[in-house]
Amino acid sequence: MSSRRRTPAPSKRNTVAMTVESTANHRTAFFHDERCLWHGTAGLFSLFLPVGRWVQPPAGAGLADSPESKRRILSLLQVSSLADVLEFTSAPMATEEDLLRVHAKSYLDDFKSLSDAGGGEIGLVAPFGPGSYEIAKRSAGLALHAVDAVVTRRFGNAYALSRPGGHHCLRDRALGFCLLSNVAVAVEAAIANHDLGRVAILDWDVHHGNGTQSIFYARDDVLFISIHQEGCFPPAYGGAADQGDGKGLGYNINVPLLPGSGHDAYLYVMERIVTPAIDRFRPDLLVVSSGLDANGADPLARMLAHAGTFKAMTEQMMALAARHCGGRLALVHEGGYAEAVVPFCGAAIMEALAGASSDIVDPTREMFEAWQPNARQRAFQRGLIDEMAAAQPLLS
Ligand code: ZN
Repeated sequence: MSSRRRTPAPSKRNTVAMTVESTANHRTAFFHDERCLWHGTAGLFSLFLPVGRWVQPPAGAGLADSPESKRRILSLLQVSSLADVLEFTSAPMATEEDLLRVHAKSYLDDFKSLSDAGGGEIGLVAPFGPGSYEIAKRSAGLALHAVDAVVTRRFGNAYALSRPGGHHCLRDRALGFCLLSNVAVAVEAAIANHDLGRVAILDWDVHHGNGTQSIFYARDDVLFISIHQEGCFPPAYGGAADQGDGKGLGYNINVPLLPGSGHDAYLYVMERIVTPAIDRFRPDLLVVSSGLDANGADPLARMLAHAGTFKAMTEQMMALAARHCGGRLALVHEGGYAEAVVPFCGAAIMEALAGASSDIVDPTREMFEAWQPNARQRAFQRGLIDEMAAAQPLLS
């Protein structure tokens, strides 16, 4: 195993650091755009079932990819004391040049044509309405500019409330509500524009980040780590044996967890796999695919994380960013469908990023803490995580 490990190439980051450090801004940015919340999923999906035949249309905000779970993050931040410490901002759309670093031109052309024609579906569980091509470019733009802002020190760290999400989207096919690969577009732009040597991506969305994985699978300059519920979505992706290809072998790490895993399992993965892998890799930039659907009430998964889990993971990513890349950390929103719970998870992340406590009281926390797996189940899950850590070439 150890023969597979390679020493990463010398970093080019210092050039960037020296040119922008003098104008550094340490504030935390929250990138959002109202238009992203107007992306329509054409009413086709109620939770995970297509509407029609034996499935009745949902009442109210019953759509799986309803904008409400995202909008309510912004709303909660704005009515809380966090509004005083965050910089709310927006960003332009990603350009065609930005998208073509990741996506096939034929896919972009087909997507735009269908969007202009009123919408439809261009992949598995990826419905959209009129104008969604431009909205998806805006979503990718939020990710791209949040990443760019932390690389150039316009902000200390940042969160992009992207919608539609991106981590399932392949180079030439939409999948699972994801129409453009937002994080991949943002990372490729950062590499192209700022000459970064290495970027690490942690995907803690409860579903596997198959799209991002596929785009960087043969690369040794982008480390991709996905923590997800085993076998949840998409089908036939995300096994721990998928470790990269060619020179990328070892730089793709999948950590599938059993349904019902909670706070302890997530933090143990951070300790046993994420932290040592990033310490080995020594990235110039850290990006998180921040799905908030591992919480204990999500309708599209069965995990037991809570706001405190997301806050702790964010703090650990901040510590890694401080250790390796001058604090450069950007989080890009992915999934999260429990409208009442997602905002508390998002706010906890923003508390961590801003280094501020807030006046928000999370009424779900006590219930989720009571639901955590017992000691015997935690020990079993830790054993599985130890096995996965031992099988990773980058950690050998
Ligand atoms: Zn998800």
